Amino acid sequence: MTARILYGKDFAAQIKESARIEVDKLKNNFNVTPGLAVVIVGENPASQVYVRNKHKTCEELGIKSEVVALPETATKDDLLAKIDELNADKSIHGILVQLPLPDAIKSHSDAILNRIDPLKDVDGFHPMNVGKLVIGNPALVPCTPAGCIEMLDLAGIEIDGKRAVIIGRSNIVGKPMLHLLMARHATVTVCHSHTKNLPEVTREADILVAAMGKPKFVTADMIKTGAVVVDVGINRIAPKKLVGDVDFDAAVEVASAITPVPGGVGLLTVAMLMKNVVTAVKLQLGV
Ligand code: NAD
Repeated sequence: MTARILYGKDFAAQIKESARIEVDKLKNNFNVTPGLAVVIVGENPASQVYVRNKHKTCEELGIKSEVVALPETATKDDLLAKIDELNADKSIHGILVQLPLPDAIKSHSDAILNRIDPLKDVDGFHPMNVGKLVIGNPALVPCTPAGCIEMLDLAGIEIDGKRAVIIGRSNIVGKPMLHLLMARHATVTVCHSHTKNLPEVTREADILVAAMGKPKFVTADMIKTGAVVVDVGINRIAPKKLVGDVDFDAAVEVASAITPVPGGVGLLTVAMLMKNVVTAVKLQLGV
């Protein structure tokens, strides 16, 4: 078997196009231009690339984008004051703080993220939005796992009734993925660094989501023949070489569908952010 390759750009283009149509409707029907503020602290080169990408995509879709760059020396209070300002700014509907924060204020990440108005929390990390997801009443959902579900839907891959296994239990990917898949009536197992006999568990998966941050960890023998493999991992193994958590070349011979890295899930995240900005505007307008 050679798997169907699920290229992120095809799905991201569809998600962005539907966001663009919604942006036009908000402009025409409510005279509102959606606005996103991305707060970046310090000079982390990877973060700068991500922020530039978000800014560019906003511009493509007609979303107002404001990049708020604070120096490496910014304090927790500087950041909280900036978030308060953006919370009060009526032209800003979405606020995102680019992670990771510099070491000096990293320990305050939760306090900083929790200061964002939940209606403007386009990353979906605020406890209010996490709680809504858990009780099955999602509002703003973390972009990467939400993008994976959107991709499966657009690819015509059934989730209902399937056995899904997620490797990784982070707040950003693994846990929200659990709730999204469960809400779609999959039977879900979450594995993590203390899971015993991992390959035995992963081999049960019809849908296997790898989100652990370990290069090529998931080998072909861990995958059931015909499974759908979603590789969320992004691992830099050389200055210009990114690989996923899955050994792609081997897995492609066993799976029925698989996302590549790069060129897979990563591209969906920014597209879903645009969708979340639109959702945030609608939540704020009550429409
Ligand atoms: P994390 O470090 O917060 O969590 C990793 C998880 O993997 C943990 O729950 C840990 O228990 C589990 N894990 C680690 N080693 C394991 C092992 N040997 N066996 C089983 N489980 C193990 O990471 P994260 O933030 O969830 O990110 C995971 C990966 O996804 C990273 O490579 C990250 O770069 C990538 N990522 C990609 C996107 C995207 O846009 N595509 C977004 C977020 C994260």
